[in-house]
Amino acid sequence: MRPAIASCALALLLLASATAFPAAPELKGRWVQGAPVFGTVAPGSKLRFGERDVAVSQEGRFVVGVAYDAPPAAELVVTDPAGAVHRYEYSVEPRTYDVQKISGLPQGMVEPPAAVLARIESDQKLVAGARVFDTPIDDFAGAFIWPVAAEVTGVYGSNRILNGVPKQPHFGIDLAAPEGAPVRASAGGVVRLAHRDLYYTGGTIILDHGHGLSTTYLHLSKVDVTSGQEVKRGAVIGRVGKTGRATGPHLCWRANWFDVRLDASVLLQPDPAKKGEKKK
Ligand SMILES: [Zn+2]
Repeated sequence: MRPAIASCALALLLLASATAFPAAPELKGRWVQGAPVFGTVAPGSKLRFGERDVAVSQEGRFVVGVAYDAPPAAELVVTDPAGAVHRYEYSVEPRTYDVQKISGLPQGMVEPPAAVLARIESDQKLVAGARVFDTPIDDFAGAFIWPVAAEVTGVYGSNRILNGVPKQPHFGIDLAAPEGAPVRASAGGVVRLAHRDLYYTGGTIILDHGHGLSTTYLHLSKVDVTSGQEVKRGAVIGRVGKTGRATGPHLCWRANWFDVRLDASVLLQPDPAKKGEKKK
């Protein structure tokens, strides 16, 4: 009798482990414009989202990013370890973005003089090059923290009208911390860019948290890390400042999934941050 009971228990155990990962991805996060969506599939699955093959960690974890202007339908294509292909469709909630008017900026910063166009182009290459990594580390799947304790004064996606001229939307979360306040790594990862003086963004740090998820810290008065350095969540990486095109000291904090610009606040809370919210 005993061996029969044992093999029955074993069969149940095998059944349980086979059903531990249902066919459909388990998701954490809402399908809303600008949001990161985290998920888990059976380890060994292959995943595709839009035009991109998505890395799946050994535990089956992954992240994808929903664009600022994503269409109303999104699809994940999962090839399970047995080779069967499953398609999952999701509806993406649209967002309404603020319009932000800033006047009185030096005209040279709104429409850069020809003399700095080459510098801006080389800055953009540095930044783009820091966001191509698909690093097999799993910090992306852990908790994130606010990089400074401060009030939100600017939100993701706001359309900017600078000195009356419509510009690219603002993709950061502005946090009104004082000059010199310590800026902390929102999660662990690898420094992919540490630059003291980019034309628009001044002192700039980009941290790679794995699987294409990165966070960016702008207008820093001090940069305390170097490219290639590993950092832990909460480590002081720089100081708040107003370098680059900034009207006063604040941290502009951003998140990306590769070149897809995300709302960094959604790394910490289900609903996008609004102006006036206080973070700590
Ligand atoms: Zn900003």
